[in-house]
Amino acid sequence: MTCRCGAAGPAAPCRPISQYVLKVHSRCDLSCDHCYIYQGADQTWQTRPIRMAASTVRAAADRIAEHARAHALPVVHVVLHGGEPLLLGPAGLREVLAELRAALTPGAVLDLRMQTNGVLLDEELCRLLVAYDVKVGVSLDGDRAANDRHRVFAHGGSSHSQARRALALLRRPEFRSSYAGILCTVDVRNDPDEVYSALLAEAPPRIDLLLPHATWDRPPWRPPGVATPYADWLGRIHQRWVDDGRPVPIRLFDALTPGQAGGGTEAVGLAPADLLVVETDGSWEQVDSLKVAFHGAPDTGLDVFSHPVDDAARHPGVAIRQVGLAGLCAECRACPVVSRCGGGLYPHRWRTGTGFDNPSVYCADLLALIATVDSRPRPDRAVAPEPGSGAAPAGAVGQPPRGPGIPAPRAAESAESAEDRAVPSATDRLLTEIAGGHGDSWALGVLAQTQLSITRALLATWRDTTGDSAAWELLTELDATAGDAVDAVLTHPFLRPWLVRRLARPGTPDDDLLPALAVVAAVRAGVDTVVEVPTRGDALMLPTLGRLTLAGERTATVRTVAGGLRVRAGSVERGVPLDGDAPARVGWQPVRRAPVVGAALAIEDVDPERNCYGQPVAPTLDEPAAVALGRTLAGAWRVVHRDVPAHGAALDTGLRAVVPLAPDAGAPLRSATAREAFGAVAVTQTPDAEALAVLLVHEWQHGKLGALLDLYDLVDPASTVLIPVAWRPDPRPVEGVLQGVYAHLAVAEVWHARAATDRPDARPAREHALRYRDWTRDAVDALLGSGALTDLGERFVRRMRHALEGLRADPD
Ligand code: SF4
Ligand code: SF4
Repeated sequence: MTCRCGAAGPAAPCRPISQYVLKVHSRCDLSCDHCYIYQGADQTWQTRPIRMAASTVRAAADRIAEHARAHALPVVHVVLHGGEPLLLGPAGLREVLAELRAALTPGAVLDLRMQTNGVLLDEELCRLLVAYDVKVGVSLDGDRAANDRHRVFAHGGSSHSQARRALALLRRPEFRSSYAGILCTVDVRNDPDEVYSALLAEAPPRIDLLLPHATWDRPPWRPPGVATPYADWLGRIHQRWVDDGRPVPIRLFDALTPGQAGGGTEAVGLAPADLLVVETDGSWEQVDSLKVAFHGAPDTGLDVFSHPVDDAARHPGVAIRQVGLAGLCAECRACPVVSRCGGGLYPHRWRTGTGFDNPSVYCADLLALIATVDSRPRPDRAVAPEPGSGAAPAGAVGQPPRGPGIPAPRAAESAESAEDRAVPSATDRLLTEIAGGHGDSWALGVLAQTQLSITRALLATWRDTTGDSAAWELLTELDATAGDAVDAVLTHPFLRPWLVRRLARPGTPDDDLLPALAVVAAVRAGVDTVVEVPTRGDALMLPTLGRLTLAGERTATVRTVAGGLRVRAGSVERGVPLDGDAPARVGWQPVRRAPVVGAALAIEDVDPERNCYGQPVAPTLDEPAAVALGRTLAGAWRVVHRDVPAHGAALDTGLRAVVPLAPDAGAPLRSATAREAFGAVAVTQTPDAEALAVLLVHEWQHGKLGALLDLYDLVDPASTVLIPVAWRPDPRPVEGVLQGVYAHLAVAEVWHARAATDRPDARPAREHALRYRDWTRDAVDALLGSGALTDLGERFVRRMRHALEGLRADPD
């Protein structure tokens, strides 16, 4: 997103900033020798006011609110920091919190946090923090010996018991909602097992493990002769954590684990920086830990009194951390793990002479740690999409599901648990991304993971129904050794509909799909094996691969071999090559791919489970028809990217399959989505790429919202409210209206984009744009006035309204 605020300043675009650190008190009651503020190269703290004046808090809050309004930011994150913020005392703290809530809450959700050493935390302060919904992180470096190594008072005395007392307070039920987690700075001289046990004993909702701040000028302490001591130390904790079943989110490990949603932090990954600091004198500063680089390193020369957020966001030191790969040194750009490491924390790259144009001073450790993470079993991918999101764990292959029923377990039933309330950012971020209309790759990844979790849970329930089998054993084995191959088949859009249908129909499991899934996973993993697979009708169905016609046989023996299959049915054995064009003469009908740039899009016209759209699907297409549909899909894909690139990216990321619907001369342009078939949409065959583009965007909106509704109740399930809408003659249930407005928001966006061109179709596009915009606006208002939305639903719809604001102006 580029700057839309039109604020004064250089013309360069800026990304909106949603996270702010407010240094409300610049002094501390501890004297930690690893503190980057007082022991770092930057010593500007000595010249700052001791506490942030009320007028400065007001000016900062106003700037943040102004920026949130200008960029329609639905959520703003503010962390109170120091020094030690609790040195403000209850009255001073109340003033700051009241000011922030008053200035920011009317326009956006304010996620308020505080980082403290805990020394001064008492009941009165806890009550205040709960009242203002402030989430608190406490610094603790582990057991007493570890904590005492650095975290001491100026007289050298331990602060360990004070920190633990603070944590005990936060664990009390009445204060638990303010307990965000523990921040622990690593010291490799400490015993990692002791540190891990000590942190876990505090029952934190989340643990942050931070590498001690260092630069190439001031490298971290390393024991002689040990190449990667930090990777070794963290690797030991990672091992314990994995062995314990990952009992608490550890942000660094989650961020480095492939496939874990929410990957990427300030410390690792390529996510753009989205943070500014306000010093006690009102100065805008860059990321605080830059203080380790050189005196004045975080300085921007700007302040909240004279400069809006956008000016600070355009500062080169901020902007360079928003451009991902392009902001890294050549060595990092060429690094095979750069997407996960991201060059490490920005300050850790500093070296006099080359500045920040270096890999992290922890480069070797980061490489080794990533290898360690990769060497361990992957997490139960059925768990929450992001630490603290509260999504219910569902069974991985090989593990029974924990209480799934039919219909599928609703991963969000625990989404409003105490833990989730303590760490709401995952929910907020997900709702914000999806409500904005498109959803970034993180949000779509979360939805996909959730859907995979549901399918895995259903699959495990199916295994419970059918009992163990060789196919199940094979699938479980492959899941441990080639998880991506198993995921590729378990994310097949029509697996969940099959499971739901079969689980709802008690009786003999005569059409068990597990053997076919095992074959496909083995093929994808490149594993040679033999599986007995039941046929379905007259065919061997291999989801995601294709169908082999086998007249009259109930089972087939399938051997996976390099490049294909050997299939024996009765007395006949045939080879089925899977790479290249498999010969039709052996009866093999592969799943065909549309030649879409940027995505792997299947034309699903062979899987019988595709018949789940409540309207007839087309029979398997002949070759010319498949080629024609593929060509139109490729054209439509280009059109979506041309019209609204963000919707193009959302299609690239999430849409896996298109099902041709049966032709109907009376309704030549139709489309459909099935809630249980995430990743697929159904459309009629048409040569009109422009029209097909609108259908694809429309239906994929339903797909995304359906997946979100699997996570969260946005509508009161008991609601019987019906709402009249402009696009249908009959009043609609609330969830139907929500689905309608979400799809129409995207469609309006597409028409707006077309209307803003000088093409001949701009005039009719303008009429469409205005109609869809008005429909959406009226229905959004009706939803908000219906009283049938849950709290989350109301937040979601309000955020949709923010997105709609961007379409308020006439499209031309
Ligand atoms: S408690 Fe934090 S701010 Fe205070 S001295 Fe220690 S590290 Fe620095
Ligand atoms: S810091 Fe090292 S491991 Fe990280 S991206 Fe750069 S070269 Fe790769």
